[in-house]
Amino acid sequence: MEDNLPAHVRDLRKWLNQYSYEYYVEDNPSVPDSEYDRLMQELIAAEKAHPEWITPDSPTQRVGGKPLKEFTKVTHEIPMLSLGDVFSEEELLDFDRRVRQQVGDDVTYVCELKIDGLAISLTYERGRFVLGATRGDGTTGEDITNNLRTVRSLPLTLPTDETIEVRGECYMPKKSFDKLNQQRQANGEPLFANPRNAAAGSLRQLDPKITAHRRLAVFLYSAGTFNREKITTHYGLLQAIRTLGLPVNPESRRCRTMQEVFDYIKEYTEKRDSLAYGIDGIVVKVDSMAQQAALGHTVKTPRWMIAYKFPAEEVVSRLEAIEISVGRTGAVTPTAVLTPVQVAGTTVRRATLHNEDLIREKDLRIGDRVVIHKAGDIIPEVVNVLTGQRTGKEIPFSMPENCPECGSALVRLEEEVALRCINPKCPALIREGLIHFVSRNAMNIDGLGEKVITQLFEKHLIHDVADLYKLNFDELIALDRMGEKSVTNLLEAIERSKQNSLERLLFGLGIRFIGAKAAQILARAFHTMDQLAAASMEQLTAVDEIGEKMADSVRTYFAKPEVAALIDELKTAGLNMTYLGPDAPAPADTPFSGKTVVLTGKMEHFTRTEAKKEIEQRGGNVTGSVSASTDLVIAGEAAGSKLDKAKKWSIEIWDEARFLDSLKD
Ligand code: NAD
Repeated sequence: MEDNLPAHVRDLRKWLNQYSYEYYVEDNPSVPDSEYDRLMQELIAAEKAHPEWITPDSPTQRVGGKPLKEFTKVTHEIPMLSLGDVFSEEELLDFDRRVRQQVGDDVTYVCELKIDGLAISLTYERGRFVLGATRGDGTTGEDITNNLRTVRSLPLTLPTDETIEVRGECYMPKKSFDKLNQQRQANGEPLFANPRNAAAGSLRQLDPKITAHRRLAVFLYSAGTFNREKITTHYGLLQAIRTLGLPVNPESRRCRTMQEVFDYIKEYTEKRDSLAYGIDGIVVKVDSMAQQAALGHTVKTPRWMIAYKFPAEEVVSRLEAIEISVGRTGAVTPTAVLTPVQVAGTTVRRATLHNEDLIREKDLRIGDRVVIHKAGDIIPEVVNVLTGQRTGKEIPFSMPENCPECGSALVRLEEEVALRCINPKCPALIREGLIHFVSRNAMNIDGLGEKVITQLFEKHLIHDVADLYKLNFDELIALDRMGEKSVTNLLEAIERSKQNSLERLLFGLGIRFIGAKAAQILARAFHTMDQLAAASMEQLTAVDEIGEKMADSVRTYFAKPEVAALIDELKTAGLNMTYLGPDAPAPADTPFSGKTVVLTGKMEHFTRTEAKKEIEQRGGNVTGSVSASTDLVIAGEAAGSKLDKAKKWSIEIWDEARFLDSLKD
């Protein structure tokens, strides 16, 4: 039969079988779920177009994996099916349409969290727990009774002497998962890829003592054998299971319209991170049992429920190239250029590779299929390479020996992983230094973004920061996308920046190890540029929080004749060289002074770090979670549980526009 299949279908089957084995039997997947799902969707589509390719042993027709032979087998009298999955609202609407076609328009759904664990079945005979089993291949599972006995939230006896078989999900809470992986790392053991695999690996232990240490938990959501006399709905069944003292997830909700279903999905997409356990989607179930029976099931999945899967946070893409860029400090960083992919709901084209060691460690080659990870608002990263999918045409990569911008030899400074260009005349260093100089936390010159600076630099209109103060109207209007109004505004912004307090200029100059905070401290301590330039090692290190490394860097910087010349030029241009801030650590009259502020959601104009800096510079304290001591929550787009908490506790909430306004003051 197999032989009649085209090669690509045979390949799909082969991959899917291999990945299923790694996932279900070894609890150790080698590819992200999204990759497995993608291949499965491809096979489903191929079989839909050619139903003659469907055979009973196709991965599309099978549930889960084979039971391990070490365990006694358990036959499920009522098969434990899998779930159909969808990845978009449109597909959910298709599901709804199919349901309505079959049972009419009067449909209520129950939305539940799709717990990221593994399906189990529990049998209670006359109120006593007698058998616990995995789903296995749906018909035959493994007897894991002794292991399930160690799960603390599972009662070993029921309040009544009923005989029932209930089903649900055994999972590992996030805290237990993190702790387990930390321990495994410390012991040099392989880490579990996710809480689902950790739960499966922990439940399928031959020694229940190990399981007992793993702190598993259970939520029940359906039943095989159950006294359904007075129960007509799925929601009613959940209540009945709960009444028996069995754990049922509290977040389930009845939804009467698809809009309510979408609202539920949105709500829990946002709350996902704050839950104590992992979820990988939302399960939508037809509430009425009569309608469930009318809809029935396929060999693999019931037709009355469906899983909506969250956008994947780990996705496979191809490494097309590695680009090298040189930063302001000369550090050379490689960036992965990827075939664009959707990761966690946004398109990812590039991922940071940090440094050469990382490329070597992961043995990254151009052309490799790589796993990309992005969670929340973190920058995408390359997790690993699918070496098993290599074709032999991949090209190993080595870092250049010379700076891609100025050609001078790159060096690796002591105790550093990064390669550096140490040519102070390197155009990349100068350009990046200029971009830093005008940035928000430095001289804060509005309208001078990265693109304008690059143009000015490439047209040789600016060579160093002093040249910024020599720019005139005619030079600026000649640039791309510059109108009269923007040029006037820009010239005004440049002029205004001359009045900045000393710490902004100090930070903007980009002295090594002198960040915004150190610049503030130095400006306050020495008051003028000249006094700072003349300060001795002793005077510098006498300042609180200024260590030897910083002091040394300040001394080295001001000892250079070209720096003295630059400072003179800036003085002539009219730049303020004095600290204008108050003596107190932070201005007392800002909207943030003395306040504890929490940031949540995505902002359009700032990264988290930038927003945090702005607040701290104004005397506020930024913390990670909302608590009784929080004074203010600033919520950007798609803010989740922190915002909910703030509302609940009546904490003052600002949006980004209000935050921006407050900074202007
Ligand atoms: P599934 O995980 O997509 O969904 C079905 C399961 O959801 C049920 O069996 C049940 O255990 C669970 N579930 C959780 N909460 C539920 C709730 N409230 N109501 C009902 N069920 C609930 O299906 P599956 O067959 O267990 O596994 C397939 C998935 O496993 C794939 O989509 C893929 O993501 C993953 N997988 C990954 C690999 C890999 O190599 N990475 C290999 C095989 C499978």
